Amino acid sequence: MRHVLAKCIIILSMLITAALLPAEEKELTVPKGGNLSSLLRDEEIPGQQIAEATKALSAHYNLKHIYPNQKILIKVENEPEKRLMEMRLSSDYDEDVVVKYNGYAYESYPEKLSLRMVPVAAEGSIESSFYNDMSAAGVAGSKIMELFRIFSFDVDFQRDIRKGDRFKVLYYDFVKDDGTVAKHGPVAYAALKTNFSDLNLYGFVTDSNEYDYYNSEGKSVRKTLLKTPVANARISSTYGKRTNPVYGYESFHKGLDFAAPLNTPILASGSGTVELAGWFDIYGNCIILRHSNGYKTLYGHMNAYGKGIKKGVRVKQGQIIGYIGTTGMSTGPHLHYEVIFNDVKINPASVKSPPERNLTKNELERFNKRKAQIDELFENLKKKD
Ligand SMILES: [Zn+2]
Repeated sequence: MRHVLAKCIIILSMLITAALLPAEEKELTVPKGGNLSSLLRDEEIPGQQIAEATKALSAHYNLKHIYPNQKILIKVENEPEKRLMEMRLSSDYDEDVVVKYNGYAYESYPEKLSLRMVPVAAEGSIESSFYNDMSAAGVAGSKIMELFRIFSFDVDFQRDIRKGDRFKVLYYDFVKDDGTVAKHGPVAYAALKTNFSDLNLYGFVTDSNEYDYYNSEGKSVRKTLLKTPVANARISSTYGKRTNPVYGYESFHKGLDFAAPLNTPILASGSGTVELAGWFDIYGNCIILRHSNGYKTLYGHMNAYGKGIKKGVRVKQGQIIGYIGTTGMSTGPHLHYEVIFNDVKINPASVKSPPERNLTKNELERFNKRKAQIDELFENLKKKD
């Protein structure tokens, strides 16, 4: 009797397994130089199925956009014959494209992901470097670059940052059901206390739907030009008379030199239009940007240009336009930076400009509410730590 029961259980469990296990799930990674078809061929999916499935996929996904290291989730049935049942890949941070076999053909559709917004709060002090200490406090790398840009309107990163300076950061992560972060949202709050300033900056959407940063009084932090167009650089030569490092004669240095490691990103110090992007005499690989109000900025000795940077292109303040190099007449990796006002080279350190835009009365009311919410949220999150 017991023997029969045991047999029954074995058969039953085999049936359940057969019902649950026909489709094998697998995560594939696109190799360098590989494509989707070769990837599926490696899984021994029949060629006809590959052709039909990729054709269905192309209705909602440009196959040219498949990139190395991209993840592709597949479900394959092995019985009674090999059959690709499902394929899923990410088309945007909040969207997947799904290809499904419906019994006689493949069909595809986009699927919106449900993302949770999770606030991330970090606090700390600068002990080794802005980047390292923020990273150690749990701030994502891309957010640190964003913070650098936000603070750059007010902070001179060569001179103002000292050991022990305190920072606070708040932003939102968009998190998928499986717990992975799909995207880091924009910085909502950024504070930095140095010997020279006590900045408390809040992200805020204006009535004209622009997201920007404002101090506690609701004044915009955006200035006409950034003080520092390179992250983590030091000034190696100031504006004024100096002995020419290449030829030795005394000359007037009409710019600032920022020394930084090769290929450190160079940021547009103001929004504007690319007037020159190419080789320019002693400046080597050079960019000249034309800004509003008669200002131009020049960036020399670059190793490489930023993505899409060429003559006539519009750039945004803080956008990466190139990378530190030592091309042209140069003794080592550095940026030669000039500010030109009405065709005269001026001392970049002397450029002072008023905040670009102040909030209206209505916006200021909304801003103050938002600020109070953020302050409270930050305090609550830090209490939980
Ligand atoms: Zn120079």
